[in-house]
Amino acid sequence: MGISEAAPPLQQFWAALQLEEPPFPVLYYVLGDTYRGQEEQERFKAEGKSRASWTESPHNYRPARAIDIYPIIPTDRGPEVSNDPVHYQQIRDLADEMFLVSGCNFQGFQDCPHVELPNWRTYQPKKKAQRPYLLELSC
Ligand SMILES: [Zn+2]
Repeated sequence: MGISEAAPPLQQFWAALQLEEPPFPVLYYVLGDTYRGQEEQERFKAEGKSRASWTESPHNYRPARAIDIYPIIPTDRGPEVSNDPVHYQQIRDLADEMFLVSGCNFQGFQDCPHVELPNWRTYQPKKKAQRPYLLELSC
């Protein structure tokens, strides 16, 4: 769990969201799932929280190719997660701006907390250089 398990463009998205002022009455955002393992994915499907079987969700890859973000609003019972799509507008707008896909825009099964890479099925993280090659130059 945690943002470090997400693909770099999603880490950048989460960082950029922190820099924005949340729209009233949103207090702040919390990060939900990044990577989701097999057992959890199967449980989610059984509970109807996801339609995807194992490996069919962008959450089932490392690094995670989707993250879930929840706006927190004040209620009589204290701060709680909002399910109102209106409170997801900032997430949706920023996702559009950063060429990511908001689950608010899904046809049929609207999933507003969800933000995924547009190319998640084929996404490969860039390989980091193991170590810069040091050339010994004799002058
Ligand atoms: Zn999701």
